[in-house]
Amino acid sequence: MQEFRYRQAKTVESALRANGTYLAGGTTLVDLMKLNVLQPALVVDVNPLPLAQVEALPGGELKGGLRIGAMVRNSDLANHPAVKQNYTVLSEALLSGASPQLRNMATTGGNLLQKTRCYYYRDTNYACNKRQPGSGCPAIDGFNRIHAVLGGSAECVATHPSDMAVAMMALEATVHTQGPGGERAIALKDFYLLPGTTPEKENVLEPGELITHVTLPAPESGTRSHYLKLRDRAQYEFALASAAVVVRLHGRRMERVRIALGGVGTRPWRSAEAERSLEGREATAENFRKAADAAMKDAKPLKYNSFKVELAKKALVRALETAAQTEQRG
Ligand SMILES: Cc1cc2nc3c(=O)[nH]c(=O)nc-3n(C[C@H](O)[C@H](O)[C@H](O)COP(=O)(O)OP(=O)(O)OC[C@H]3O[C@@H](n4cnc5c(N)ncnc54)[C@H](O)[C@@H]3O)c2cc1C
Repeated sequence: MQEFRYRQAKTVESALRANGTYLAGGTTLVDLMKLNVLQPALVVDVNPLPLAQVEALPGGELKGGLRIGAMVRNSDLANHPAVKQNYTVLSEALLSGASPQLRNMATTGGNLLQKTRCYYYRDTNYACNKRQPGSGCPAIDGFNRIHAVLGGSAECVATHPSDMAVAMMALEATVHTQGPGGERAIALKDFYLLPGTTPEKENVLEPGELITHVTLPAPESGTRSHYLKLRDRAQYEFALASAAVVVRLHGRRMERVRIALGGVGTRPWRSAEAERSLEGREATAENFRKAADAAMKDAKPLKYNSFKVELAKKALVRALETAAQTEQRG
């Protein structure tokens, strides 16, 4: 681990002024500093910032939606009554992630910005275009069982590992930031970048920009949601494939559908194709399977991960079946 300077920020303004790497729960950052993957010269601890609240926005009964501070811990968010009841998919996604101890530390902002679990990225003995641009990608011809089948490029096939971000993608969340250029509200669907030829640039944040909070739109009545995660172990394991679905039903007709997939894409993967194939149709097994085929039609499996294509389809079908049967709102 390299030597670094440490500073605490008590206000957003002082955090921005410090111009360093933000430290939230530290469950990604400190790991990667110990591995010498990340070597910040200055670590700015943002734990004292007043950004740890979950609040209903004005409008009563969440009609204005929900505001989630960047420093809200994953366990607090998962167990918040408004989230459990109205945004079930988010609670389920959070509780499927990591372990209770990690969820007690991990924050909303840090979770969105966590780094890939690609073995080659995390091991400085190997080349990695994401860690060291232009050095190469050993995953493409190497051991790529956990890698992406959607959104990869000739430079990078690393998956984005977050469960929470997949649920937030299906909930159409907005990320709010403050940076040297002022405040911004960024739709989550526009937040993450595909690797292309610049895999080191993972999202649209500018250097020094701080996530202050995330907002979720008001839950619509008649909406049901579910997160299903498939992985090698039942606990304490990242997704090989996961599906987040938010469905508004009128009788058995699906009026509005939002779908995102995890574990298969280079970013949390929203599937407009699958959504379009379901909207206006009956909630039937046949239509769910067609949506799953649509979601994965552009999949480009690598040597060791072709199983992910069928696994993701099955995850999506099962998540849709469960959501369509569940009596809940979010
Ligand atoms: C063993 C293990 C298992 C795990 N399993 C899962 C899993 O199954 N599913 C899953 O989704 N995750 C899993 N995780 C990842 C975990 O969820 C993340 O490490 C965590 O959410 C990161 O949040 P943090 O607050 O600790 O971030 P930090 O480590 O503090 O920060 C992460 C990154 O975000 C930046 N950052 C933090 N806050 C802000 C902010 N407000 N504004 C701008 N930049 C910011 C930091 O500079 C850093 O680059 C696992 C982690 C471990 C160690």
